[in-house]
Amino acid sequence: KENNMTLEFDAKSENESLARIAVASFLTEIDPTVEEINDIKTAVSEAVTNSIVHGYNEGPGKITLKCKLVCNQYEKQDTYTVSSFITIEIKDLGVGITNIEKAREPLFTTKPEFERSGMGFMFMEMFMNKVDVISEPGKGTTVIMEK
Ligand code: ATP
Ligand code: MG
Repeated sequence: KENNMTLEFDAKSENESLARIAVASFLTEIDPTVEEINDIKTAVSEAVTNSIVHGYNEGPGKITLKCKLVCNQYEKQDTYTVSSFITIEIKDLGVGITNIEKAREPLFTTKPEFERSGMGFMFMEMFMNKVDVISEPGKGTTVIMEK
């Protein structure tokens, strides 16, 4: 069983909570634990903030959030098992990242003067099972996460 959601919003900080809540609400179908919800919300928040702050440099732009829930239910030797996972994609059409490997290093930031600490990607990796970054300078950035 599968369920999909796409949401597009302006790259403004007031939409960060919208993104977090939309994902959390979309997730309820699979009965996540409070911890799982919080992990996913934090990861979404970090990726959306990055698109706003770095991708569009706090200027105008659009962010697309895509979520896919996959839920597999099966019976095995009289036990009923449910395994589900979520894939979340956060995409901007901003400046892009020149060196993705470097950008993902803990504590690396290109904006130290704005009190950024370079922890965003680290949190995404800590709280999600898989994080992929696709980016091209001048074209934008897509972060794909799985849990
Ligand atoms: P923090 O997240 O702790 O506030 P940060 O945003 O600088 O600091 P990360 O989220 O780990 O740290 O991102 C590391 C670097 O990767 C950023 O400083 C920025 O240069 C680059 N980056 C991340 N996301 C994007 C994006 N969507 N577009 C362009 N550059 C990005
Ligand atoms: Mg960040």
